[in-house]
Amino acid sequence: MRAEFPDFRLGNVLATSFTATLTERCGDAVERIPTPHRLVDWLAVNGLAVDSCTTTQLELARELRESIHAAATAAAVQDALPASAVHVINDRSTQGRAAATLTPGGERRWRLGSASRVEDALSVIAADAISVIAGERDGRLALCASPTCRAAFFDTSRSRTRRWCDMNTCGNRQKKARFNARQRG
Ligand SMILES: [Zn+2]
Repeated sequence: MRAEFPDFRLGNVLATSFTATLTERCGDAVERIPTPHRLVDWLAVNGLAVDSCTTTQLELARELRESIHAAATAAAVQDALPASAVHVINDRSTQGRAAATLTPGGERRWRLGSASRVEDALSVIAADAISVIAGERDGRLALCASPTCRAAFFDTSRSRTRRWCDMNTCGNRQKKARFNARQRG
């Protein structure tokens, strides 16, 4: 029988979609890339198809993920960036070979190095995190209002007042909780 894995939370921002492969960090955490193969699946869905993934590469990926989470959280609350997180993000960014290419239809595609290694894919994610944390993109880093989540997400709403990392999960749960409280009260 095939094992069932938690599905992916896909967003518009690569770096925070990546950090969302671990959800409910402050509650019952859900690991959405529990095996190397699941990381391969996640990368493929995000336009970064790789040939294979080892356990060591999965560990590198998770280390990058937690570093992006730490740095993005600090940036969201305007704290100093943790030096160790910055170090990991820079290592991953510089140790991969990926190139942006333009399709005839005018879309960007990533071409990974000749061996399509996980390290190449991670360098694209690290570079995306750098551009978000450096404030180069139109939007604002914020922390999810759900007390069991507290994920860092990138708010691109015009008013910059988004409260939840994901309306379909954290936002909905909050709405339901309010509704139930009203019913009881
Ligand atoms: Zn959330």
